[in-house]
Amino acid sequence: MAQYKYGQYLTQSEHSAYDSLFTPGSTAENPGIYRCAVCGDEIAIAKGHTLPPQNHHQHRPGLGAIRWQLLVFAQQRR
Ligand SMILES: [Zn+2]
Repeated sequence: MAQYKYGQYLTQSEHSAYDSLFTPGSTAENPGIYRCAVCGDEIAIAKGHTLPPQNHHQHRPGLGAIRWQLLVFAQQRR
């Protein structure tokens, strides 16, 4: 589970961007921390980079494929 120390630097959001599940190898439109919705594994990714492939980590048989979900959006200055 992602951790932080200084909560004043994070803001809770109800944006729909946090609801989408992405398949391995798809482009990350939003930079930040992504979590596998199936097993909880987490990664950090830069804007526009490709989410890790199916062989990034292994699921127990029967769990299904990796599905990446945005957990923390890294907000860059314009
Ligand atoms: Zn997983």
